[in-house]
Amino acid sequence: MAAGRGGDAGVGTRVVTAGRRKEWTGAAVNPPVWRTSTHLYPDCASLRERLAHNRDGEFFYGRRGAPTQWALSDAITALEPGAAGTVLYPSGVAALAGALLAVLRPGDVLLVTDNAYDPTRSMANGLLRRFGVEARFFDPLDLPAFEAAFCDRTKAVLLESPGSLTMEVCDIPALARIARKKGAASVLDNTWASSLGFRALQHGCDICVQALTKHVGGHSDLMMGAATAGESHYRALRMTAQELGQIISPDDAALALRGLRTMALRLERSAATALAVARWLEQRPEVARVLCPMLPGSPGHRLWQRDFTGGCGLFSFTLAGEDDAARCRFIDSLELFGIGYSWGGFESLALPVDPAKHRSLMPWSGDPMVVRLSIGLEDAADLIADLERGFAAVAQG
Ligand SMILES: *Cc1c(COP(=O)(O)O)cnc(C)c1O
Repeated sequence: MAAGRGGDAGVGTRVVTAGRRKEWTGAAVNPPVWRTSTHLYPDCASLRERLAHNRDGEFFYGRRGAPTQWALSDAITALEPGAAGTVLYPSGVAALAGALLAVLRPGDVLLVTDNAYDPTRSMANGLLRRFGVEARFFDPLDLPAFEAAFCDRTKAVLLESPGSLTMEVCDIPALARIARKKGAASVLDNTWASSLGFRALQHGCDICVQALTKHVGGHSDLMMGAATAGESHYRALRMTAQELGQIISPDDAALALRGLRTMALRLERSAATALAVARWLEQRPEVARVLCPMLPGSPGHRLWQRDFTGGCGLFSFTLAGEDDAARCRFIDSLELFGIGYSWGGFESLALPVDPAKHRSLMPWSGDPMVVRLSIGLEDAADLIADLERGFAAVAQG
């Protein structure tokens, strides 16, 4: 679908204007929620004409969506420079599956970054293996080993940066360049930065996947995913999604559009608060390491500064020692941080995570007591006071 207006404007302007086509919104600011399975045709000739074309942005049948979903996918496309179109899925994991199934055949080899989101690992080792795709994991920080890992059957590469839980930033432009040279499609899980913080296609990736559940939704009230591609891969993405019967509800599309309008503002605020919290944690004697690419001096900061135009509220840190009970006491005593999966919402979350369990190639040799924080929109001073309460609870034993 064609990108909306405002391609060169600032990021705040772009999220406000993206996807708001007059023919879909009418006189309203937002497109109405089109609840529909059946679209009616004036006569048999027009029904046959639609059947023959299968074009984006045209009524056909409910599974191809209606203006509410089209406006959202158009908006996501407009925010990713170089994109030809976006397919929406009922979750981020569904988007990853849709992207990988679009570019892989039985007998192919898929290279997967070893610090991938754990359900991505499970998909590679489960579903994809069952359908004859061989998944091999690689260390994203070792470029020569990555290049050596290709064989004639390597047809796709799954990248993610920063890596899940431990936040390593890898050299995506270099990895994508190698993949392209070897004739493999590169799929990037760009959920952390979103298209606002990392221009995946301009940096050489073929498909940009985002869990819209996180930053676009932004309010912890919906599940959704998107895969965005240029001309080279959009057709395959779209056909595969149609064959899989993927469709999102118009109500969820309207919620995601609402979230999108404030996304630039929310990301800027939560990233700034996260940096303030990370700086504070860095000074605490109880903290061994802060794993936050936005923090000067932290691993990955140099590449983050080179390639990214923004960050977000998600980062990790490690507690000194190996006392899991102390880690749980720390998290349990927090009042502003909820304990739960997901991130990118308006509310802060804290989670005990164990990266060693989710690696096969680059064993996590750092301190084992990792805590992942998702910083929301509360005030930094209040979050810091809450974390201070957590450390006090640990000290009390
Ligand atoms: C949450 C997440 C996903 C999956 O999104 P869902 O909508 O929960 O399926 C994919 N990748 C990353 C990095 C995530 O954090």
